[in-house]
Amino acid sequence: MTFEVQDFIPEHILRMEAYVPGMQPASPDIIKLNTNENPFPPLPAVISAINQAAGKLQLYPEPSSRPLREKLSSLYGQSPESFLIGNGSDEILSLLFRLLLPDGGSCLSSDPAYSLYPVLAAMQNGEILNVAVKSDWYLDLAAMAARAKESSRFIIITHPNAPTGLIEKREDVTRLIQEVPCFVILDEAYMDFAPAGQSFVREAGTDFPNLIVVRTFSKSASLAGMRTGWCVGHPDVIAQLHKIRDSYNVSLIAQAAALAILAEEEANRARINTICQTRDAFARTLQQMGFTVLPSATNFLFVKPPEECTARSLYDSLLSRNILVRHFDRPGLRDYLRISIGSGQAMEKVQKVLGEVLPSA
Ligand code: PMP
Repeated sequence: MTFEVQDFIPEHILRMEAYVPGMQPASPDIIKLNTNENPFPPLPAVISAINQAAGKLQLYPEPSSRPLREKLSSLYGQSPESFLIGNGSDEILSLLFRLLLPDGGSCLSSDPAYSLYPVLAAMQNGEILNVAVKSDWYLDLAAMAARAKESSRFIIITHPNAPTGLIEKREDVTRLIQEVPCFVILDEAYMDFAPAGQSFVREAGTDFPNLIVVRTFSKSASLAGMRTGWCVGHPDVIAQLHKIRDSYNVSLIAQAAALAILAEEEANRARINTICQTRDAFARTLQQMGFTVLPSATNFLFVKPPEECTARSLYDSLLSRNILVRHFDRPGLRDYLRISIGSGQAMEKVQKVLGEVLPSA
């Protein structure tokens, strides 16, 4: 009997490329600025909630994360039925692609955007049409709207965008949502680092029935390792997502940790403000050193090194000094580095090392 594994795997899965996450080096000596993690550990109240929940691990968690949905409901003025909690926002995104992009369908995004989307489309044997950003790196929302009217199941926008860090004007995004005859998904992973009043969480599913907003506890809540995210939208679409998720998709510990951080909004806001201040000070420093720095509404900076050195060579020099940033080696992005904002101390070290490695310094 002959048995070939690939005879049993769908052709489009055999063909697709896997997502490449940023490196997670084991060495504690590395200043890790490559995956936009929060430099602060979880708040003490979160750690104690995790410890308490650990004592109840013989039990299954609440299947639909109801207490967490109720808390989000009270915070954002939407019904608990408007929310779905996931094992990281990556799971939410994956569920959305599974639901909204049946075999052969097409959806729309921008280039660049979060690089997971094309992988999720490929998994569905679907197609993602990427509309190039304009020369200033902002989204071409008019072109996206025009394409969406031709045919698309949904538009997905990283808002603020990655790896650029830019945020679109609220009124322009509103116009797009109102104009297009399909779902609009806003991936607001970095929204807590943007100026206040930019999020569409309160409008998703109510003012705009075609809008779904995706959020995560990974970045601003210091819980990347916990894997918890959520989305909000019209209860009719959220109900369909609940049908296709795993029955216990969010662990008991993850639910407890997320509830605890939501009760600590003020303390966490102070930390977010510190990260934003560190970001803005570091951006000014880089500009003084001759970098081109895009204005950031996130916890990272997208920067082009001064003329005399390439992004790749600077990436290598930083790595040789134990500083890990992100370089996307693909057309359009390869002249830039994406640098996550770490602690004030980490960024001072980066500044010092840059002073030593840049040819003009
Ligand atoms: N969206 C964007 C834009 C991201 O950068 C990330 C993290 N890489 C995610 C979603 C996923 O975050 P998580 O699964 O940790 O919630």
